[in-house]
Amino acid sequence: MKSSLKALKTLTGSAFRSHSSQANARNSSAQGASRNISIRASPTNLNDTVPDPIAPEPTISMDAEDFLEPIITRDAVVHFAYDVNNPPPRPDADAANTQAEGSSWTRFVCISDTHCNMFKVPDGDVLLHAGDLTHSGRFKQMKPTIDWIKQQMHPHKIIIAGNHDLTLDHDWYLEHGDGWHRTLENPPDIRKLMEPREGDTTFHYLQYESLEIMHGNTRWKAFGSPGSPWFGGWAFNYDRETEAQGITDQIPEDVDILLTHGPPRGILDLTSRGVLAGCAALKSRVEQLRPAIHIFGHIHEDRGAIVQEWPDSDATNTTTTATGSGDEATQENPSTRRKQRKFTVFVNAAVQPGFQNKSLMTPGTSGYHYPAIIVDIRNQ
Ligand SMILES: [Zn+2]
Repeated sequence: MKSSLKALKTLTGSAFRSHSSQANARNSSAQGASRNISIRASPTNLNDTVPDPIAPEPTISMDAEDFLEPIITRDAVVHFAYDVNNPPPRPDADAANTQAEGSSWTRFVCISDTHCNMFKVPDGDVLLHAGDLTHSGRFKQMKPTIDWIKQQMHPHKIIIAGNHDLTLDHDWYLEHGDGWHRTLENPPDIRKLMEPREGDTTFHYLQYESLEIMHGNTRWKAFGSPGSPWFGGWAFNYDRETEAQGITDQIPEDVDILLTHGPPRGILDLTSRGVLAGCAALKSRVEQLRPAIHIFGHIHEDRGAIVQEWPDSDATNTTTTATGSGDEATQENPSTRRKQRKFTVFVNAAVQPGFQNKSLMTPGTSGYHYPAIIVDIRNQ
């Protein structure tokens, strides 16, 4: 039964959660081009044209076995479960000089919603944290968390805040902090923790900001937003109707690495109550810009990754035959983008999802957690 469940999940739309064989990997490109672009691997139609954010109760529940097998495509490899003391080799492991100029792949190590939990993460080129570093942004929570991240050996560490990191939303905290903290924190003290140590060029905290990093010969442009659509009046919450557009418009057109705390609408954003909690404006922007990787968290229970292969925009090798609203929507908005990347890896990197399978989890400083999701991306 397990395999038929998996088939249902993986064959809806062009998205797929796991490809374990090389044959699948070779076929995936053609599949991606010929299917419509409804992204979520679920039986419901989750296009933005659906006005009601309440989806039917999902008929397939998430189960941790989804994450045992890696996703393998031509341009990206994703690992969900592995021995952290012996992580899977990089795709270019056989080549010499994988760590620097000679490498044709970049390894992203993705975590989110760690909420004060600290644990071993595998080595890689870029460590990404998509927010909710702490429970409530108190200094005593943030200090050890940031120390933990700063001491990681990754050549680049890029992090953002989330709705739980209350004190980093300075003006909001001054106005609303007393509703959350009986004794108030001083936000500038906590913001200071986000500065790199003297001489450290590897640590970057982004709050509606861009950043350029070099890895080997490849330049990556990153953008980080701590925002998530309004829910309960937490920090960095924004109104879906009046504020979402302004926030997503800040994402630069040439973004390669996108970090947002909240997910895009319909992509790994399904809550355990069957609600699509993601942001529609963000989804439109991401479809238009096609970053190499978009990491988020916030909805713990929809942890996972999708390698989205976009339909070809140049007619020469387009094999698109399927029609569907998602397809049209994507092909209508072609080319304002600097380069039409063929794929985007979406990662909900929450380490404490809503379901529990302790055989896949390991102990951290505050309970069990899932490992970092490893995403290897071929340099473009
Ligand atoms: Zn959150």
